[in-house]
Amino acid sequence: MAKIWVVLQLREGGQVPRISWEALAAGQKLAAALGGKAEAVLLGSGLDSVAGEVAKNDLGAVHVADHEALRGYTPGAYVGVLAPAIQAAKPDYVVFPHTYQSVDYVPRLAQSVDAGLITDATGFEQTGGELLWKRPVLGGKLQAKVRVKGEGVVFVSVQAGSFPADSVVKLGEEGESSVQALGGTDPVGADREILGYEEVGGDQVDLTKADVIVAVGRGVGGADKMGVVEDLAKALGAEIAASRPVIDNGWLPRDRQIGSSGQTVAPKLYLAAGISGAIQHLVGMKGSSVIVAINKDPGAPIFNVAHYGIVGDLHEVLPALTEAVKAAKG
Ligand code: FAD
Repeated sequence: MAKIWVVLQLREGGQVPRISWEALAAGQKLAAALGGKAEAVLLGSGLDSVAGEVAKNDLGAVHVADHEALRGYTPGAYVGVLAPAIQAAKPDYVVFPHTYQSVDYVPRLAQSVDAGLITDATGFEQTGGELLWKRPVLGGKLQAKVRVKGEGVVFVSVQAGSFPADSVVKLGEEGESSVQALGGTDPVGADREILGYEEVGGDQVDLTKADVIVAVGRGVGGADKMGVVEDLAKALGAEIAASRPVIDNGWLPRDRQIGSSGQTVAPKLYLAAGISGAIQHLVGMKGSSVIVAINKDPGAPIFNVAHYGIVGDLHEVLPALTEAVKAAKG
């Protein structure tokens, strides 16, 4: 039986973002493969409600480090809490969402407990009793298969969109996993002072929260031709996103870019119109549950990842889709 911890990253205010549910799904999948149950770990302040929400899932336990000094993230306090807890509990694996935050503190944590570390993992397989992890290299052009050599705890950070959030196994109506205080939780060594938080872009959108995205590429032909995209997005209740040339040309703001130098998303529906499907775009959206591609070139690589493809001019297809959506909604 393997002992698997999943450290969930929380939003300010204690909500669980999609990427943390995805990490939990990865932990559960790993537990199912190796035997045992995943256990969640939460760090923060005033966590009763979020701990209750997480405990509704099929977990061995929910470990909570609830302390005023953990209200805001600092790498020193996180390492100060997690390192002794990991040394005491000796999990086999600790799973993290791969985020700017985990990139900041997890390598330091790994060094302090002498853990193996695999970052940006997109999946795993068991071969001949060995666990091999997949991770993209060269901007997603190649997939590397890696394993950790030696003994001891292994840390894995999982890429957004690799383990669907809706595959998290829940308990029945009445079920609740046990919630426990994480041992030795007096945080030490907060090495940064948080002066405040500011939403990037203020009133702009966080595309990772969107369930439906209508994404547009260079094929749209210009900023003045966005009307068909906006109409469909409005009819679907979707957010609008774009490939990089659309952003570089100034047709949409930078926070709408999907891809290796933009956001990584995994919505329920990703509609890609006039996007060729370059690898730098695909790495940002290929984890979407359903991908619909519209392109006038039947050989466009986007069709290789699409679940549904429409070959045609987006200026004809999108208005037809908008009418169909409106008709279906009555
Ligand atoms: P194109 O490749 O020009 O494709 C346009 C498509 O539209 C074509 O397939 C064409 O057939 C189709 N089309 C044209 N007219 C119509 C029409 N009327 N109706 C239907 N279809 C039509 N790209 C990203 O998207 N995100 C990133 O984060 C990103 N990061 C990068 C980082 C680096 C370091 C580098 C080198 C590149 C990066 N790129 C990124 C750029 C990437 O390589 C591609 O150039 C880009 O994704 C192409 O965008 P596109 O598909 O919109 O345009």
